[in-house]
Amino acid sequence: MCGKEAAVRLRYANLWLCREHFLEFFERRVERTLRRYGMVREGDRIGVAVSGGKDSMVALYVLSRLGERVGFEVCGLHIDLGISAENYSRVCLQRVVEAFRELGLVYRVLSLKKEYGFTVEEAAKRVRRPQCAVCGLVRRYVLNKMALEMGVTKLATGHHLNDFAVFIVNNVVHANYAYLARLKPMLLARAGLVARIRPLLETPEHDIAAYARFLGIRYADIRCPYGAEEPTKVVGRFLEIVEKRSPGITMMMVRGFIARCLPILESRFGEEEVRACKECGYPTTGDLCAFCRLLRRIGARR
Ligand SMILES: [Zn+2]
Ligand SMILES: [Zn+2]
Repeated sequence: MCGKEAAVRLRYANLWLCREHFLEFFERRVERTLRRYGMVREGDRIGVAVSGGKDSMVALYVLSRLGERVGFEVCGLHIDLGISAENYSRVCLQRVVEAFRELGLVYRVLSLKKEYGFTVEEAAKRVRRPQCAVCGLVRRYVLNKMALEMGVTKLATGHHLNDFAVFIVNNVVHANYAYLARLKPMLLARAGLVARIRPLLETPEHDIAAYARFLGIRYADIRCPYGAEEPTKVVGRFLEIVEKRSPGITMMMVRGFIARCLPILESRFGEEEVRACKECGYPTTGDLCAFCRLLRRIGARR
């Protein structure tokens, strides 16, 4: 574009870009995603849920940089899950706090152990369920609670294009159509629930890695020791092969899904009837929400 030596090649766009032009390209695209799906408004207070890994850390940096331009405020949220294997949670916490401070953000870190008296590992053992299931449940609930307490208007996560693509294919393979209906760029706020947005929805993982490298973002370069389950990894590899043969096809599938499939799925699988949890008020289909049931089963305090 500018005659300088290229630092990155984007096959799907047939572009070679220098560092500066890449950063501009990357941020413009996130800004377009925000506008296209109406994810932010002027005056919003965006809470970024940061795990410490590459994706959520990049979401934090790019949103901080866009905040001034678009006119919203950014703050940081992190849960210390207390995963002791391979020092995972300790390394994550360190990186996240460094980033929050470097960016000068208002932030909150919640330690599961200090707040509720258990770690994810302990809870999973007690209820004999997979780590990832317990972890997902706890994170969804606690992040929402933190966001409400911090006056966050929208909670942002680091899910990117490839996450979406894997999720779509995986759920089609398993015929989980009701689940697919919830795969939206933005989940609106409801009683007790903060709105959720996915600003990296149209950003390929490869570009996220390049952005982190060019900005020198220090993230926790370790995977959770309990890792993602094998089937999604297989789907991910399959999609990589397809993308290599037809650059841009992943973007086309995800955009096509959102524009054409999602409206049909939504009209078929409407929002479930929910009421407020008797203990905490969180929306649930039963009497108690899943988090309160978990607390009861492990006899934790609240
Ligand atoms: Zn350039
Ligand atoms: Zn509850």
